[in-house]
Amino acid sequence: MKCPKCGVQMSMIREIEQTSRREKGIKVYYRCTLCNYKVLTEEVHLDFSNGTIKIMVKPAPKASFIK
Ligand SMILES: [Zn+2]
Repeated sequence: MKCPKCGVQMSMIREIEQTSRREKGIKVYYRCTLCNYKVLTEEVHLDFSNGTIKIMVKPAPKASFIK
């Protein structure tokens, strides 16, 4: 994926956040190294309750930009 502003290759970043003891959220997005432009592509939610792992993937809606 290329930055719509600069046209350079954007790097993929995974951001993991521990939302609670039993839950984790992973955000996958692309970031432009020049202008810091970010595009969120996917959000993964992990649920560790009941001794099992529940994985929920919710694709980001189109044109979901983080500023
Ligand atoms: Zn850029």
